[in-house]
Amino acid sequence: MCLNNRIRFGPSGNSDSFYKEGNKSSIEMPKWLYDMGLNAYEYSLTRGINIKEETARLIGQQASKYDIAVSVHAPYYINLASPEKEKAEKSIQYILDSLEVATWLGANRIVFHPGSCARMSRQKANENIINMLKQLVNQAKDYLQSGLLLCPETMGKINQIGTLDEILYFCTLHENIIPTLDFGHIHARGLGAINSKDDYVKILDKVENAIGYERTRNFHSHFSHIEFTERGEKKHWTLSDTEYGPEFSFLAEVIIERDLTPIIICESRGVMAEDALRLKNIYEEKITLSNNVNI
Ligand SMILES: [Zn+2]
Repeated sequence: MCLNNRIRFGPSGNSDSFYKEGNKSSIEMPKWLYDMGLNAYEYSLTRGINIKEETARLIGQQASKYDIAVSVHAPYYINLASPEKEKAEKSIQYILDSLEVATWLGANRIVFHPGSCARMSRQKANENIINMLKQLVNQAKDYLQSGLLLCPETMGKINQIGTLDEILYFCTLHENIIPTLDFGHIHARGLGAINSKDDYVKILDKVENAIGYERTRNFHSHFSHIEFTERGEKKHWTLSDTEYGPEFSFLAEVIIERDLTPIIICESRGVMAEDALRLKNIYEEKITLSNNVNI
């Protein structure tokens, strides 16, 4: 398995400021991120897979030159829970297509939303997803052997499949399936579930119990402040919108104490790169603090 050897921070997609500064193509993103002090980038295929191979390969070359770890977010319309066989199989194809784009980009992680309950029972939706995932790992064998990781995401809306327990179960199906822990979603789905360092400790304990330390160490992550209603996730905000949680500094402490090396992708609206840098700075301040305590 292709594992990350250090913690990394970066944005999902391109900040507004990237375009305001006159940049036009994501080919320019890796250098832009490097100059900012960031080292990860999630390329979004959420609205469709329409990137040209040539462009993707150029982004990949730049990413490799500037040591930016690229991940890919697969389309939002994937629904592995669909009771219609044809739709579910199309969803598998979208994931396979995203894997192919990932190879062009030199990315080694594919994030995807597993599916939705619609009118099915939760159990039935989960059974459908599990069956489709088994089919997927079979069809994606070559990609997985080359080190690509499938990263199903914890979801923020109650009717979506993607509680922490559901995602961790999916991860037990194959060693190349690791969780995308979206802490904003976990917080929103639990109607404000993350309020202390201990809340993060419990989440990461659960992950480690399910998939072991090595894979926990390399988890994929999304982080942003999030607004929620009784149905869960409502809207992503920025780190400056402090009326919304969760708080990153507690998570940074747990990451340091457990020597974890996740990739942390920031999804703040419009300022995803700026906020990714804020997360990195919070983490680095905590490292300095913990070193001083140790001395
Ligand atoms: Zn997502």
